[in-house]
Amino acid sequence: MECIFCKIIKGEVPSFKVYEDEKVFAFMDINPINDGHMLVIPKTHAENLFEIEESDFLAVMSVVRRLSLAIRRVLGPDGMNLMQLNGEAAGQVVPHLHVHIVPRWGGDGKGICEWELVPGDRDKIKGLSKRIQEAL
Ligand code: AMP
Ligand code: ZN
Repeated sequence: MECIFCKIIKGEVPSFKVYEDEKVFAFMDINPINDGHMLVIPKTHAENLFEIEESDFLAVMSVVRRLSLAIRRVLGPDGMNLMQLNGEAAGQVVPHLHVHIVPRWGGDGKGICEWELVPGDRDKIKGLSKRIQEAL
């Protein structure tokens, strides 16, 4: 069965569309974390960051920036989170790459990005930085 976001792009499943161009589609999240919560997706199906073509990803991120500015003009939030989850372990539910734009207000208590800061082992951090650099 075809993916739900591909069906939204084709209009086979209804959505509150905000923006569309040749490569990108944006619509309101139906379970909003806060007012203005929006999803920006590539029109060409790609499950996640590891599958998407670079040009499609750049097109998505460009639209994310423009829509974030528009949301800020309309709703005047105190801040904004961008979230993009890859894989079940990361909490991804819909397997079609999407960037969440979530307006935030001070004290909204939504609990996004509120992990505890614990200093890491410096040698381990350094070792990983080297390994990743070598993999570029
Ligand atoms: P995730 O895969 O965890 O990044 O999140 C998937 C997001 O898609 C959730 O925030 C859902 O509320 C949203 N979502 C799922 N189905 C629809 C739909 N038909 N229309 C709008 N948003 C949807
Ligand atoms: Zn899809």
